[in-house]
Amino acid sequence: MDLLDKRRLLAPGPVPVPPKALLAMAQPTMHHRSPQFSEILSDVREGLKFLYQTEDPVLIFASSGTGAMEASVANLLNPGDEAICVVGGKFGERWVEICQAFGVRAVPIEVEWGRAVEPEQVEATLKRHPLARAVFVQAHETSTGVKHPVKELADLVRERETLLVVDAISALGVYDLPVGAWGLDVVVAGSQKGFALPPGLSFVSLSSRAREAMEKATLPRYYFDFRRELKAYARSTTAYTPAVSLILGLKSVLDRLRQVGLERLFAHHRCLSEATKKAMEALGLELFSQAPCETVTVVRVPEGVDGLELVKRLREKYGLTIAGGQAQLKGRIFRIAHMGYQNHFDVILAVAGVEMVLSELGYKVELGRGVAAAQEYFLKEGIS
Ligand SMILES: *Cc1c(COP(=O)(O)O)cnc(C)c1O
Repeated sequence: MDLLDKRRLLAPGPVPVPPKALLAMAQPTMHHRSPQFSEILSDVREGLKFLYQTEDPVLIFASSGTGAMEASVANLLNPGDEAICVVGGKFGERWVEICQAFGVRAVPIEVEWGRAVEPEQVEATLKRHPLARAVFVQAHETSTGVKHPVKELADLVRERETLLVVDAISALGVYDLPVGAWGLDVVVAGSQKGFALPPGLSFVSLSSRAREAMEKATLPRYYFDFRRELKAYARSTTAYTPAVSLILGLKSVLDRLRQVGLERLFAHHRCLSEATKKAMEALGLELFSQAPCETVTVVRVPEGVDGLELVKRLREKYGLTIAGGQAQLKGRIFRIAHMGYQNHFDVILAVAGVEMVLSELGYKVELGRGVAAAQEYFLKEGIS
């Protein structure tokens, strides 16, 4: 029976999509070279600049976020170049793997999972590798729930010939990341995270320094060629057929965002995140991240509880999809996301579900204790 099948996405991507955006994507397909679509595209590009808080162009590709990560390597670097990669989790490792796939010499800065990189570590590495062309980092490392200090890293590279490339796939649209004011050279995002859309679009902003590097870079690229896309951008179109329906959804969410404003958007996600963190602590659970983020709450699985079973049971029995840990954290953590079309009662559901499953798995919980902590937080702080 459908009623018993009601499913809820509370994982760090994909995320729930607002009904208005779903309806926008159900419109008949438009021709991508029509004046009507060009107008929508121009409007969406302005909306992206608003969300990115930059005057730099923001390109859109039909790919998941990793496509734009790969494109950032291929468009900015040369074979044999050195590039510094901050590696404090699964997504930091991905920067290294992409560099290696393109014959770029990755210089990893290994950071303990759960901790943020220290700007001094990056500074010391830059001194040892003064020719490094780029520093690759995550704004938020989704596998550990850690926020890296990208503003401080931007200050370090500004005076050098080094670009800062930020994977903000799980940061943009969740918390304040003023790309222009901080001078972030390249910032990558993806539709199925902070944008509250289905998977399938990636985004990348390019500073003037990045655009200069792009002109000189000699790594091979074809579909993901920033030069060709920027030429099409200037003509209010795209180089190839864009994901028309997803872009109609994008227009819907960006229009809404411009009405709501960034301050309220960020306050909303902060509120959901804080309430969840308070609830987990009220249950006697320990948070994993030493530099926590509004995107996700990462919780250590308590001693004696099967972490894989916890995530599986929440999904299969209760219809709540959260995420477990990846790689070395498999079975050791669980992750509840606060991205996308979510509000206060999604937090209540998530906490209630976690309480019930923990109780079933033999962990001593007082049912309702975490829920009460979240409710108290919402009553005290008000609903943003
Ligand atoms: C989700 C995520 C990715 C991967 O994006 P895909 O869209 O799955 O390719 C990369 N980096 C971070 C920080 C993410 O959260």
